[in-house]
This record gives sequence, structure tokens and C-alpha cells, in this order.
Amino acid sequence: MRDCEMFEIIEREENRQKDNVELIASENFVSSEVREAQGSVLTNKYAEGYPGKRYYGGCVYVDQAEDLARKRALELFGAEHVNVQAHSGSQANMSVYQTILEPGDTVLGMDLTSGGHLTHGHPLNFSGRTYNFVPYNVDPETERIDYDTLEELALEHHPKLIVAGASAYPRTIDFERLGDIARKSGAYLMVDMAHIAGLVAAGVHPSPIPYADFVTTTTHKTLRGPRGGMVFCKEEFAKKLDSRTFPGIQGGPLEHVIAAKGIALYEASQPEFKEYAKQIIKNVQVMADVFNENGFRLVSGGSDNHLLLIDTIASVNMTGKDAEKLLDEAGITVNKNTIPFDQQKPFITSGIRLGSAAMTSRGFKEDEFRKVANWIVEVLKAGDEETAFRVKEEVVALTRQFPTEAVLD
Ligand code: PLP
Repeated sequence: MRDCEMFEIIEREENRQKDNVELIASENFVSSEVREAQGSVLTNKYAEGYPGKRYYGGCVYVDQAEDLARKRALELFGAEHVNVQAHSGSQANMSVYQTILEPGDTVLGMDLTSGGHLTHGHPLNFSGRTYNFVPYNVDPETERIDYDTLEELALEHHPKLIVAGASAYPRTIDFERLGDIARKSGAYLMVDMAHIAGLVAAGVHPSPIPYADFVTTTTHKTLRGPRGGMVFCKEEFAKKLDSRTFPGIQGGPLEHVIAAKGIALYEASQPEFKEYAKQIIKNVQVMADVFNENGFRLVSGGSDNHLLLIDTIASVNMTGKDAEKLLDEAGITVNKNTIPFDQQKPFITSGIRLGSAAMTSRGFKEDEFRKVANWIVEVLKAGDEETAFRVKEEVVALTRQFPTEAVLD
């Protein structure tokens, strides 16, 4: 009865993960405990509603699991209220929009090419189709958020909501300033901290919680939990947020994933997690140094967090699409990514995005990341498959020395 066909595919993916250097900035390797919870019997349970107020019987233990996850989330991030039921980051964002916006309301969101996410107002996304998003961009010179221009835009358009946070922004975001701008212009502030949640949890990036009305996150990026989302808010919005999540936009919560979120939050509260977060930043810095020494152009010149963007057109006259493909052949997984004011189409792009969280979880430190960055320089400068295949052998020899999961002491 065993579905060998599917399990063989899973095994191939396991080997791919083992033999590659994973630099996709939104990915990570979870602990075996997080995976164990996701594969647990909790997947069998329906539990529409919230702990103590379910529409199904037999919820006594999933209530305990969800309560524990909520308690840990609140303790870790110091928020007033949390909803841990969002199935994904996109649904976390949707639940906030449903809580405070009406169709057609004006919202300020960071443009995709400046680093924003699809759910921050892209015209093809539900966000851009439902609400009147006014995009803000980074400064063309510094490639950093220009808070003065953002403030002018806010005072001109009087948005009901300002959305901050990004998928591809390598610099620290000034949440305090954003909070001031929101208050001045009469807008709510939502910070989508999906990418940096693990850094915030560890205290190596400022927290948006004191300044934002709503903070959304995925749980699977630097936070290193299962795929999913979470939303924090001030107590005054708690009831409405919960009802706009369920029954508003979702049915039964994924209690096996919620249990795994609880485990990830427990792990993130341990001293080892702080070390992991600090190492993430050290590792990006090492890569940035190698790229700068080799004359590559990095968006904004470098990074303060877990990711950096290489302008591949300016660095080696190669599109992001071609760079991604060539690096794939070398066993180095990255993604093509638009850079600010990109002239190329989103499927082609002028850059690639690199993140250090996943390989930091596998145990890579500065020495390994220096090697990886030098391989990237070598492959992209050579621009041919022979070099990529030669590097691949070295990549496999290195990655096989490391586990394919986050190891906790
Ligand atoms: N928000 C940000 C900033 C993201 O980077 C992402 C995903 O990459 C999301 C939201 C959406 O998360 P999901 O893919 O779980 O819907």
C-alpha cells in the first residue's frame, strides 16, 4: 500500500537539500521536533473556533496546544494579543486588511521592486485588486527607505493604513519613525516582519511591536518554524482580528502546524537561538565583504540583516535568471530578484537575493560562508558550465559534512 512513487520524490528532495548550499533568504531548516509535530496526530483534528470556544467536540488537547503556542508567542515578542491560526503569511496579511479596511481604502505599501511583498499591493494580488495601494520606493541613490518622502506621501494621500516590512530589503527598518509617520497622518501601521521575525525574537533587529497596531509574520523564515503565519495586535483589535480570521477568511485551523509553531517559539526563546541569530548576521557580512572585494555591486552597498541583493547586471553583465540557473548547476540555490527600479521583467530580473539563515541552521560559520561567496564570484565571473560543475563537487563535499536540520543542544 505504501505510495513508493511519492516517497521516492520526497527522498530525492531530501538529497537535493543535503547536497546543495541553500541561500534562498526566505527558507530555513527546521528542527526534527518541529517536523515531528507537523507529522503528528494533531493533523487528524478539526477545531474551528478558538480555545474554549470551538465548533467541534474533542478539542481539549488541541486547545492546550493552541493556548501554549499563543502564550509563547506573546512572551517571546512582548505583544498584547496574538492569533496563531493564519495558514500562511499572505493570509496573515489578509486578516489584518479585513480587520480594518474596506474595499477601495487607500494604503501605502512598499513597491515590489524596492523589496515589498506581493500582498503589499501588487496589482495582480488580492491586495492591489481590492484596495487602493499607493506604492513607496527606496531612494534611488542610497537604495534605502526614504522616510521623509514616505512621510510626504502619507500626508498627501491620508492612507488608512501604512504597510511596512519587506521580502528583499537588506537594511534595518526604523519602526519608530514609521510609527510617528502613521500617527501624524492618521493611519494605522502594519509591519510585516516575515523575513526578520527570528532576528527580532533574538533581539538583533529592533522590534516593531511597540510602534505598530498590527504585526504580521510568517513562521518559517528566520524564525525557523513550520510554514504558516501569525498576527500580533493591540488588545483593542483582538476580537475583530480573531473573527476576521475565523470565520472571516479561514475554516479549521491546522493544529499540527500550530503545535509546531509552539515548538519553534520555545526554541526561539532559548539562548542558542540568540547565537544562531547573531551568526546569521556575521555570515551575511562575510559574504558582503567577499562580494565588495571582488567589485560586485550590492544593493545599498551591503546588509544589516540576513539577506543581500547582488546587482548581477552591473556586477557580471548577467540577468538574475541566468545567474540563478548557473549557480543551480554549481549546487548553490538562490533566487532571481528584482532590484530597485529594475529595468528587467520580474521573471528575468537584474539581480539575485541571497540569505544566510538556512545554512546557519545547518552549522555554517564564517569560514564556510567565505568559501561559498568565493564560489559564487568564481562561477558568475567565469559564466560557464564547466566552472559550475567543478564547483559543485566542492559544494557537495562541504555540505555533506553538515546535518540537514537545525541542531539544538
Ligand atoms: N510577507 C513577506 C514579507 C514575505 O516575504 C512573504 C513570503 O515570502 C509573505 C508575506 C507571504 O508568506 P506566504 O508565502 O506564507 O504566503
